[in-house]
Amino acid sequence: MTDSRIVVAGSLNADLTIYCERLPLPGETLHGSGFAVNPGGKGANQAVAASRLGGRVTLVGAVGRDANGEMLVASTAGAGVDVSHVRRVAEPTGVAVISVEDSGENSIIISAGANGTLSPDAMDPALFDGAGVVCLCLEVPLGTVRAAAQAGHDAGATVLLNLSPYAPVGAALAHLTDVLLVNAHEASQFLGGLDMPPADAPVADWLAAAGAFAGRGLARVLVTLGAAGSVVLDAANTAEPVVRIAPTKVVAVDTTGAGDAFTGAVAARLAAGDSLAAAARYASVAAALAATRKGTQAAYPSAAEVATATP
Ligand code: ATP
Repeated sequence: MTDSRIVVAGSLNADLTIYCERLPLPGETLHGSGFAVNPGGKGANQAVAASRLGGRVTLVGAVGRDANGEMLVASTAGAGVDVSHVRRVAEPTGVAVISVEDSGENSIIISAGANGTLSPDAMDPALFDGAGVVCLCLEVPLGTVRAAAQAGHDAGATVLLNLSPYAPVGAALAHLTDVLLVNAHEASQFLGGLDMPPADAPVADWLAAAGAFAGRGLARVLVTLGAAGSVVLDAANTAEPVVRIAPTKVVAVDTTGAGDAFTGAVAARLAAGDSLAAAARYASVAAALAATRKGTQAAYPSAAEVATATP
């Protein structure tokens, strides 16, 4: 088994989470049932998820010189992630204000803060030397994501792009991306409004979606479908271009960061030498376990827990 290094270039946010019976309507004020400040941000979450599952992870990012920044660096380092390339800057640490309702559904507003200062020059090619996987999200400036994708590509790494939160990406970034990770909503936005089929739709429907992605330069795509599971689209795999992965049945308590758990797990397993479909199957179990516990990073499972939960 190979065990290559993973570089995650992305955001660190303090998650300010309030729990409530249901999400408020516009203009409505509700009483919540608890409040917590937790480490988060897609980059940090994906780095921690991959590290917990045995990945060797370097996180490149930026935090402010404030208490939230200290908390984030300490928690990420505590999960075994190399944080020596997380910059301390004058801007405040990024924040996400999160509401989670009893069903596990959430709504999130982000203030980028320090994440917005992560510039392309932070993507020193030397950082990517020997990396097997580069994991990217869109909570840092697009030019920086492009620079990281280019550096990863030049180093021969597999470049994963989690297209979240959705932003239009140009053809250059799409062509540097080896594996795109999207939920159904992001997929539809990326494809100009083309809706994803249901998880159990005929293979032909998913082949049409695969064709639409391939037309945009993306041959390998993982579409996550929440509690309905996920679908692997791999145009290069002529024997099995569509693999539908049934969800792992769990009682969801908080699905915040389930997508990051999935992405981090895919990164860890690709770095360990798994095929895309095997990595996605593993990630499906890891992300389902993450949904059974409150919070994001604190909810992410170890490799031993995933092994126990794997049918
Ligand atoms: P988020 O933005 O909240 O992190 P997302 O929209 O990016 O999530 P989802 O598609 O909701 O991502 O979830 C990612 C994966 O997590 C799913 O493909 C599935 O494998 C797993 N998952 C999420 N919710 C559940 C659930 N209720 N039960 C089982 N698995 C789940």
